[in-house]
Amino acid sequence: MTYTPPINDILFVLTRLIGIKKLAALPGFDSVSDDLTRSILEEAGKLAAGTFAPLNHAGDKQGLKFSNGTVKMPDGFAAAYQEYVDGGWNGLSFGEDIGGQGLPATLAMPVQEMLQTANLSLALCTLLNQGAIELLSVHGTEAQKKLYLPKMVSGAWSGTMNLTEPQAGSDVGAVRCKAVKDGNHYTISGQKIFISYGEHDMAENIVHLVLARLPDAPEGTKGLSLFLVPKFLVNADGTLGARNDAFAISIEHKLGQHASPTCTMAYGDKGHCYAELVASENRGIEAMFVMMNNARIGVGVQGLALCERSMQHAAEFARTRIQSKPLKTNTQKGADKPVTIIAHPDVRRMLMMMKSQTEAARALAYSAAFAIDAEAQERVELLTPIVKAWITDLSNELTSTAVQVFGGMGFVEETGAAQHMRDARVLAIYEGTNGIQANDLVFRKLARDDGKAFNAYVAEMKDIARAIAAENGDDAAAIAASLNASLDHLEKAAAYLLPLAKTDMNAAAFAAVPFLRLFAVTAGGARLAESALIANKELKAPQDFSVDFLESKLITARFYAESILPQTAGLLPVIMAKQHGVMTMPENWF
Ligand SMILES: Cc1cc2nc3c(=O)[nH]c(=O)nc-3n(C[C@H](O)[C@H](O)[C@H](O)COP(=O)(O)OP(=O)(O)OC[C@H]3O[C@@H](n4cnc5c(N)ncnc54)[C@H](O)[C@@H]3O)c2cc1C
Repeated sequence: MTYTPPINDILFVLTRLIGIKKLAALPGFDSVSDDLTRSILEEAGKLAAGTFAPLNHAGDKQGLKFSNGTVKMPDGFAAAYQEYVDGGWNGLSFGEDIGGQGLPATLAMPVQEMLQTANLSLALCTLLNQGAIELLSVHGTEAQKKLYLPKMVSGAWSGTMNLTEPQAGSDVGAVRCKAVKDGNHYTISGQKIFISYGEHDMAENIVHLVLARLPDAPEGTKGLSLFLVPKFLVNADGTLGARNDAFAISIEHKLGQHASPTCTMAYGDKGHCYAELVASENRGIEAMFVMMNNARIGVGVQGLALCERSMQHAAEFARTRIQSKPLKTNTQKGADKPVTIIAHPDVRRMLMMMKSQTEAARALAYSAAFAIDAEAQERVELLTPIVKAWITDLSNELTSTAVQVFGGMGFVEETGAAQHMRDARVLAIYEGTNGIQANDLVFRKLARDDGKAFNAYVAEMKDIARAIAAENGDDAAAIAASLNASLDHLEKAAAYLLPLAKTDMNAAAFAAVPFLRLFAVTAGGARLAESALIANKELKAPQDFSVDFLESKLITARFYAESILPQTAGLLPVIMAKQHGVMTMPENWF
């Protein structure tokens, strides 16, 4: 099972859909060029394919060892992580003032994509650390930034996110961990569950960011404060001091991601857990949202990663597995011999489902990264639930499709197809379940400004539809027709939901998941229509990309337009149905 970094596909999105010149024109990014982009991708691709990927299946098999509060990572993980740190990869998109390289998120995202694709369990550590760094760089005090950020940016220390407790999952406001002021710092006590990388042996120190409640704090999220809790206390000169009273007391045995530690953390069990306040008292949730939003997009990228990996894997299998004669008349040469399964239409259909949706997901995710760089905050906020929920849903669907391509061998662990499916499952759950993302989309992102951010996005998609409609050829006409139909469904759905979000929240919440899907499928279709538009033009005088590559973009966009976009026609009536009786049906009728 090898991984081939999809450098050309990534470059196509970066150089054509986004535009390196547009990126370089943003404040602070004038050093970005085509050459720099290519060399970053190639070097990151080597780390991903050469170092991270070979450990993926072995790490899943070997798993983790927990004893006396410590976690031993699978063989090779610590060395691979060190290579990542030594290469300076962790600091790619952070400011030079805190030891980063000051490059755009639009370049850091493909690097993350490749590392996640190569080894999701290992790369999860870096995802959380990056969210923690962003949080501290926005909300940390000057002293905290000075003491903690350089080591976190290099990756020598990692960061964690501590929200969840047994009674506080989706409902973060139910957090009970306690914090008390103690001289010039705080102490905290209580337990957190499901803390990714709460303990491991790859970094010298771990910086936990923990939500807790001060005495007399108001109920709910308005009474949450955020604390920085180091595993080892840090001396003023940056060296490590005593072990803090913050320990992992167990790790979970999970369906997937067997090589990423998910820890129950006990704070203050031995009587004194040192903590520092981040942001002001009772304002912790706002600060934590910086990390959560960063991680939501990061988890979307994990979804993209598993779509890509399982697609490559399935395509490779389909090109070699020989089974069944082709559907040809007996007079055709070779029709009497079995063929590789990629010759069968249904296998092609499965591979195209994977290829087209993976490419749409990549284009959409990278456009969100560009919005981050452009500081287009409303756009970022609108796209965050879409990137998180749609792409992680896709990763569940497409990793399952890959198992189907493998036939019985997909169900057998040796091939590794099953691992991708197992690893994907939690992506739709952690960082806010996809149901919660859909509520966020409808009640906040859509309704908050009466659809202003949404309408601006739809207007851009309509421009793309108009541009592709003006192109010559059947492909362009078919894509334009489908995209226009989906845009019509999307606008009708939004017009129905906008007032409903205020007048009948249950009905609006009922429609939230199908609405998110309708929006995402259409947005993915618009990005692929744009790809088709570019491929159509470049085919007249191909330069950087081969004719084959450009033609594949057209075929892929047309497939998506004809096989995926029509889903929106079925989603609209689901969204607009009144769901009579469902909410009032007695619970014991289920
Ligand atoms: C492997 C793994 C790693 C994790 N890593 C971390 C981590 O590093 N840090 C951390 O803090 N947490 C972490 N988590 C916790 C994770 O974020 C939560 O599991 C998740 O937010 C869901 O919470 P819950 O499990 O309590 O489910 P619940 O909140 O009980 O949800 C159960 C179901 O009810 C639905 N539901 C709940 N409330 C609503 C609502 N208001 N509207 C509609 N539907 C609703 C949910 O969508 C879901 O389908 C991790 C979890 C796992 C499994």
